[in-house]
Amino acid sequence: RTAYVNGQYLPLEQAAVSVMDRGFLFADGIYEVSAVLGGRLVDNAGHLARLARSLAEIGISNPHPIEEWVRIETELVSRNGLDEGLVYMQVTRGAAERDFSFPKDAVPTVVAFTQAKTIRANPLAETGAKVVTVPDIRWQRRDIKSVALLAQVLAKQAAAEAGAAEAFMVEDGAITEGSSSTAFIVTREGTIVTRPLSNALLPGITRRAVIALAAEFGLTLEERLFSVEELHGAAEAFYTSASAFVMPVVSVDGETLGEGRPGPVARRLRELYFTFAEARD
Ligand code: PLP
Repeated sequence: RTAYVNGQYLPLEQAAVSVMDRGFLFADGIYEVSAVLGGRLVDNAGHLARLARSLAEIGISNPHPIEEWVRIETELVSRNGLDEGLVYMQVTRGAAERDFSFPKDAVPTVVAFTQAKTIRANPLAETGAKVVTVPDIRWQRRDIKSVALLAQVLAKQAAAEAGAAEAFMVEDGAITEGSSSTAFIVTREGTIVTRPLSNALLPGITRRAVIALAAEFGLTLEERLFSVEELHGAAEAFYTSASAFVMPVVSVDGETLGEGRPGPVARRLRELYFTFAEARD
């Protein structure tokens, strides 16, 4: 596999950064992930706009204009012959003597690589995913796509140990989001519900597309908080992300949700999202 490190394309085994990199020492950096379907980037402009925003929020100047980011991504997709999967991009504040405040002359470290992954024929989408709920123990700027992911690592591990694919994180009795996804429910009245954007969650690029698709196809959607109890009593639930697209949920904390199989709204949105994803990059 070929990776990108600070302007160079290298075999992954040779791709390396300094042990003094602030991403390694402080998690002082941000990342972004775009899906690749049929060799094409999905909704990539949205991901690169969020990458620019994350950088601005932590005071790192964007090392590349948008066109250059697209060139790097496209080059990696091509060199790796990637048909379906992900492009991962990370920018840190760079390598410097260890000191908390910003170093004066550090040059941002830029790393990117691809991962092959089955998105369309993902068997989990056929059976539906199990989720568990865990307390949301993260910091208060979850709108920034920070590489400080320890809380999400622990949440995903708790899910794995319970035989579940995702953890929905809970704060003040309400679901904030999935450990690496946006959470949705469908009420028994057929209304799709997802939490409104704020500092408490990441502004999901897939979330935005799904909201637009719901509007376009006349599905009722409300942006409001929903509780763990509402999740348990929902007709359907699903989560969205660049890697999962739209993933139906069939059980919560070991309890069957709805009919215990992917629901019609989640299945429809998954199909609509694939059509959207294939139509543009
Ligand atoms: N929320 C969190 C915490 C995430 O890590 C992710 C994606 O990794 C998402 C939501 C979904 O965002 P997107 O749809 O842009 O991939």
